[in-house]
Amino acid sequence: MAGCAAILGGGIGGLTVANHLIRHGWDVTVFERSPGPPTTGTALGMWPQAMAALDAAGVGDGVRQLGTLQRRAAFLRPDGSVIGRVDSTRRTAYLISRPALLGVLLDGMPADVVRFAEPAPDLATLAEFDVVVAADGTRSATRDFLFGARYRPTYAGMTAWRGWIPGEAASVTETWGPGGLFGITPREGGLVNWFAAVRSPADSPGGLDFLRARFGDWHQDIRKILEQVGPDVVLHHDLYESPALPSYVRGNVALIGDAAHSMAPNLGRGACEAMVDAVTLGRLLTERAVPDALGRYDRARRRPTRRLVRASHLVGRVATAERWIGLRDSVVGLGSRFA
Ligand SMILES: Cc1cc2nc3c(=O)[nH]c(=O)nc-3n(C[C@H](O)[C@H](O)[C@H](O)COP(=O)(O)OP(=O)(O)OC[C@H]3O[C@@H](n4cnc5c(N)ncnc54)[C@H](O)[C@@H]3O)c2cc1C
Repeated sequence: MAGCAAILGGGIGGLTVANHLIRHGWDVTVFERSPGPPTTGTALGMWPQAMAALDAAGVGDGVRQLGTLQRRAAFLRPDGSVIGRVDSTRRTAYLISRPALLGVLLDGMPADVVRFAEPAPDLATLAEFDVVVAADGTRSATRDFLFGARYRPTYAGMTAWRGWIPGEAASVTETWGPGGLFGITPREGGLVNWFAAVRSPADSPGGLDFLRARFGDWHQDIRKILEQVGPDVVLHHDLYESPALPSYVRGNVALIGDAAHSMAPNLGRGACEAMVDAVTLGRLLTERAVPDALGRYDRARRRPTRRLVRASHLVGRVATAERWIGLRDSVVGLGSRFA
């Protein structure tokens, strides 16, 4: 079945559903408020479900070519000693930067599908479209309009920094200390990607000086990054989580990705789930009439993504625990042997 779709937001979820629908003969228009594709952004982990979604959208091989395959990860203490290691052929992930991922998604479609520098129009003006996909991210104006301000994501209790430096990282590490964590991952283009998060009140200030003071006595891989990094490549954001929405659908509008279920990044699943939403919705729309497809999309995706919002929050609290650290490390060390 083919029809026409308006997609509000040309980020990860929006461009994935656009690719999927276009491959199945749909007429698609994407409204994206940014003037063009992003040129900066850090690496995202694409888990197997996300790779399967990218394959269904026709762009998986592009990500495999550009991304870096990761099989190994280690959880460390601030002094560099190992809490646990994961070395698995089953749980592989491709690491790819946001600009590279969006570039692959854009290359998969005709150039005129995405209207850059065009904010989403009012829903009332989109009556000619069979379906509207709200993929406008954590601060979704579409969600606010349809469900009201009480369903806005709330502060997750943690603030995060991301950046990159030239160099190479052999594998993924995440270092857990009281109240904070610091991650290092490979990234395409001869770069090392890093991220940090600490428990703190919302809107706390935190420049490079803060980061150097907070993590400056952690192990030497972290110290090296903090010495090299410049202030122009430090992205700082508070982390937000969605409350449970009563539905991901209203009329002919479907919410996908962070618009529906913003989650803390501790499981590295937000972008992955946006892509799984996108191809689940795309597949249903190509097989069924719109009302039936949207109802099934909501039933298929709301529960699992709610569980992930809760699980990501829990993992963030465990990784930045301030008490019971010895016990936590023993449990994680034991668990990682079976991962
Ligand atoms: C520190 C950190 C690390 C992360 N690491 C990972 C990871 O390793 N793996 C992973 O899977 N996820 C990760 N995530 C999560 C991931 O970045 C998000 O979940 C993902 O980007 C959500 O995709 P989306 O398409 O829903 O929203 P976005 O990618 O945010 O796209 C929304 C788009 O809508 C546009 N838009 C907004 N409003 C309007 C409007 N009114 N009109 C038109 N356009 C509009 C925006 O400009 C944007 O392009 C991480 C997040 C953070 C904060």
